[in-house]
Amino acid sequence: MSEEIHLQTFGDLVRYGYNLAGWCRPCGRHEDIDLTKLPADRGYVSARFRCKTCGGLVGVTLSQIATSGDNSAYHAALDKWRKPQ
Ligand SMILES: [Zn+2]
Repeated sequence: MSEEIHLQTFGDLVRYGYNLAGWCRPCGRHEDIDLTKLPADRGYVSARFRCKTCGGLVGVTLSQIATSGDNSAYHAALDKWRKPQ
């Protein structure tokens, strides 16, 4: 029996311990995207990111953070959202 996870929003990514990294091919820049700076209820599938340097579209890679029971990374991220703006 596998746990069914629906990843739809940036909030889901943080909740389930995922990391989103952006890569600009022309610049060769690779940078982690701070999910907590994005709207938690916004769908990530249709999201597009642009390179700060050249303005080109950035390819994104989704990966699961190796938490191995230690969920402090994404609990800290969730805390950021809970804080009033
Ligand atoms: Zn670029």
